[in-house]
Amino acid sequence: MAKTGNPHGISGYKRRGCRCAVCEAAYQKYNADRRKYRHKAPRIKADLLVAFITENDSHVGGTSKAMMERWLRDGVDLYVADAACVKRGVHPYEVFGDAWWNVPIEGGDD
Ligand SMILES: [Zn+2]
Repeated sequence: MAKTGNPHGISGYKRRGCRCAVCEAAYQKYNADRRKYRHKAPRIKADLLVAFITENDSHVGGTSKAMMERWLRDGVDLYVADAACVKRGVHPYEVFGDAWWNVPIEGGDD
């Protein structure tokens, strides 16, 4: 990109490391937009997955514990749940049973 344009804004923040008010504001808007349009997968109740991980993983550290507490509170993203099961060598159906097939897909959007 040519350097003739306005040096401030999102590219000023990201490429040139400028932290003036214009660049900071552009960066905040950029992050707000990213959050707004972020992919939101449907969620499934996490109790069975958390029980499975707790039983099968020899060590569950602090980050994982905090993450699983969040899953128990908010449900777990379907694709995260899928990956967590596959990583441990099982199909999510083996962990979630029929609930795996009955997640309301439209519940993921808002
Ligand atoms: Zn700037």
